[in-house]
Order: sequence, then structure tokens, then C-alpha cells
Amino acid sequence: MKIKRIQSQVVRLPLDEPLAGGPAYFRTHNQFVTLRIETADGIEGIGVSFFGGALSATLKHAIDQLGELIVGDDPLRIEAITQKLRNAGASAGPGGILTLAISGIDMALWDIKGKVLGQSLGAMLGCLRDRVPTYASGALVRAYSLDHLLKAAPLLIEKGFKQMKTQLALPGDTTPEKEVERARLVREAVGPHIDLLCDINQRWGVHQAIDIGKRVEDVHFFWLEDVTAHDDYSGLARVADALITPLAGGECLYGITPFRHMIEAHAVDIIMIDLNRVGGISNWMKVAAMAEAFNLPVVSHLLPEIHVHLISAIPNGLTVEYMPWSFKLFEEVPVPVNGELVVPAKPGLGLEFSRDAERYVVS
Ligand SMILES: [Mg+2]
Repeated sequence: MKIKRIQSQVVRLPLDEPLAGGPAYFRTHNQFVTLRIETADGIEGIGVSFFGGALSATLKHAIDQLGELIVGDDPLRIEAITQKLRNAGASAGPGGILTLAISGIDMALWDIKGKVLGQSLGAMLGCLRDRVPTYASGALVRAYSLDHLLKAAPLLIEKGFKQMKTQLALPGDTTPEKEVERARLVREAVGPHIDLLCDINQRWGVHQAIDIGKRVEDVHFFWLEDVTAHDDYSGLARVADALITPLAGGECLYGITPFRHMIEAHAVDIIMIDLNRVGGISNWMKVAAMAEAFNLPVVSHLLPEIHVHLISAIPNGLTVEYMPWSFKLFEEVPVPVNGELVVPAKPGLGLEFSRDAERYVVS
């Protein structure tokens, strides 16, 4: 089996909030780079990369350039291909655009493998569970008014979600008292039995994280995420030591090695792995196994339609972030029922690019 060609596109999707009908926030669009790898015998694998931002055209170009290097290679030799690409771009890496580009290619290769074997990605990775918990993300963000949150949270519960994420480190003129009040009111709105998660997005200093983190301990957050700079492992460890609430982190880490340093520093209690930044499915599974050896649970970041396979496949998989940013790329995505996602059984990723998304292609 041989790779015949790789084609990629930049797709600029409008950013909306469909889970509880919130207004657009943060930015108006997200730019994804989508790719197709075609084999000489007509099998097509698809992949997606993200985080290019203003450099999305550059990310596309990186995928095209790396793609040229693997024409003629056997797509089933995934580790051989990703190693070849890491070596080819080594001096431009290890993180950043190089890793984002390889992640999309790695994904498409796994999609091809699944289609060749007639197995879903989850099945290929071990098929541990056929459904996984998922949490609503993006619907209770700091940009929204408290009034909106108090209406949106019960709506998510009506939709069957048992886990949902909000944010603190409020914009504008905030105080610890304002942060605590908002946390308490959101907890009251969802009741004691919902897993309420909270993202700080690296906006607190270490002392602030300890101070406000202690004040909100009786809110019983399921986790506090990225409480300070994502790579301040010793700072994170001080916060983790000071609080009962578990800390989650890892979405900003590129490749596998930084996870070793984060775990060795006891910086977080829950490992969050981003499929694009870690370098694709192959690397994602390596980090998940590393976390397992340290008795740490793993959660996903973005791309729930692909992460559902990965979280289902590992014994330490905790929950899938149900963040809808990428949904318009695909014909059909897994839909939560009673707070769970059923792992798709179709071969490979089980996804098809949407024809409707053609109108969002920019290059
Ligand atoms: Mg986050």
C-alpha cells in the first residue's frame, strides 16, 4: 500500500455556542486545517489540525511540505512515517507548527488503517469501553454574564449533561469576592450532584490561585484547570499541594517530553492531552500510558469527535471535553445521551468532511 497524494485546506468556521445558545465570544471564527491522504488503491484518510491562528496558511503549507515527503510510503507504517517527519523538521521543532502539522497527518494515517482493517479507531486501540462520560464546554464561559450562566447551566442539565465547565479569573475589575460569589451561584444553579469544572486559562498567579482556590473549596469543583502559567511546573505544584481540589493541566504542552517534566514535578492531578499539540493519535496514546503509570487520570482537549475513541480506549480515561468548535467540519458527530458519548463503530475515525463546510474554505 502506498500514499498517492495529500491535499489540505484552511477552513474558517464561525465560532458559535450551540450547547446553551450563548452569543459569540472570544473571537468570531476558528481556523482549522483539514487534510486528506489518498492511497494508490483509493482509500482516503482524513485529519485535522488547529491552533494555526494567524499562521493557519503556514500550518497548511507545513502539512503540504511534509506530505510531499511521504508520497510513495506505506501509510500503515505510522510510526515510521511520523519519525521520518519529526526528523525532517527537527530543527524547526520539536513543538509548534511542526508538531501541529504532523498531528494532522498522523490522524489521517490512523483513519486509513481503520478503513483497511474495517475497525474503528477505538477498536484498533483496544476497545476498552463502548461509551464514555462527556462534559459540556464553552457554554458557561467568563465572557458571559452571570445571568446568562444561571439560565444556561440548567439548560445543559436538561440536555442530559452531568458534567460541565465554567471559568473564573473574570474579565475587567474583578476581586476574589466576585470570583467566589460567581462560583457559588453557578454551583447553586446546578445543584450538588453535577460535576462542575472550572478553567482559569493561566490567568492567575501562584498566590492568587492558592488564595481563591482555598476560598472556593466548598464549591467542590471537579477540577481547577490551568490555574497559572502552563509551564510553571513548580508553581503549579505549590498550588496543587495547597488545595484539596484536583488541578488539571497539559492542553498547552507540545509532544510527549514536557508531560514527563509536568508529572515529575507533581504539577497537576489530572492530565489533559490536546490531540494536535501532542502530535497526533500515536503520541496521545504514549502520554496516556505515561499518566497511567503515574496513577493519573487523563482528559481530552477539543476535537471530541476524535477524542471519544481515545478516552474510551484507555483505562485511565476520565471524560471527553464536548467542545463544539469543530463540529461543522463533519457530516455527523457523536451526540451526548445522558451525559455520555457512544464510541462510533464506523471504520477509522468514523468521520466524513461535510459538504456544507466547503463554503468556509478560505484556501
Ligand atoms: Mg482549558
